[in-house]
Amino acid sequence: MSDWIRESLHPDYAQSLRVDEMLYDSKTDHQRLKVFQNGTFGRVLTLDDVVQTTEGDNFIYHEMLTHVPILAHGAAKRVLIIGGGDGGMAREVLRHDTVEHVTMVEIDAGVVDFSKEYLPMLSAGAFDDPRLDLVIADGAEFIRHTEGGYDVITVDSTDPIGPGEVLFSDTFYGHAKRALTEDGVLVTQNGVPFLQGQELHNTMRAFTALFVDATCYLATIPTYAGGPMAFGWGTDGLARSTPLEVLQGRFDATGITPGYYTPQVHQAAFALPGYVTKLLP
Ligand code: SAM
Repeated sequence: MSDWIRESLHPDYAQSLRVDEMLYDSKTDHQRLKVFQNGTFGRVLTLDDVVQTTEGDNFIYHEMLTHVPILAHGAAKRVLIIGGGDGGMAREVLRHDTVEHVTMVEIDAGVVDFSKEYLPMLSAGAFDDPRLDLVIADGAEFIRHTEGGYDVITVDSTDPIGPGEVLFSDTFYGHAKRALTEDGVLVTQNGVPFLQGQELHNTMRAFTALFVDATCYLATIPTYAGGPMAFGWGTDGLARSTPLEVLQGRFDATGITPGYYTPQVHQAAFALPGYVTKLLP
């Protein structure tokens, strides 16, 4: 009989993934890291037995947390990624030739080293790009002291337990806003609202107090089970109202061929069902 791994994230609901082969299982200084092979999803990375990313469906998550803010902003040159140790977010940001500099702040060097070796398809060479500056530090500490000037900040964090918890605090969001340019955009991973509604509500409450335009947008990622995932969106600029033809023009100019993102999906992602709207203050 095959082995199965059961995710330990929600109190009343779990997903299981078949482990065809356990490729790595070890504790870093911060968390327990596993990589295994699964028939449908390919290589799967878990931290403390919570799925972080998979070879098969990571494109949806990474594309939606990068192309949406970057193309909506339209002139993003400096991008900050908080977390993102597997390199998938850096991969998608660096597909934009117009981005001149990316700072990525990851707390756990173990995740980066390990991903380079076991999940090279995720970073796809991003760690060797001269535009990327990798900082090993707590993202909350980094942002407290940063000078700022970022056009886009993407928070690619773990869930709000363990080292990722500080990345969901009002203090962190306040510092993130300070680190943005005047029309900069902050996007965050906010879990699956059907199961983690309080998490989204807390972020939206903080964003509404900080930003002129505060909302969330959605995408369905199979291994983040329980319905669509929410991404927080905060800006004082007009990026969200960028017309479809303008998004299309910017997108065509990139030459990127994504698996999920299209300008139409981009706009539709901001249409929220009732149960999600109720979580917004
Ligand atoms: N997409 C995933 C999800 O939602 O399950 C998360 C992706 S994973 C790349 C998140 C990364 O955030 C991990 O590499 C983790 O080490 C990092 N991380 C957690 N807390 C952090 C902190 N305080 N500062 C910087 N990075 C942090």
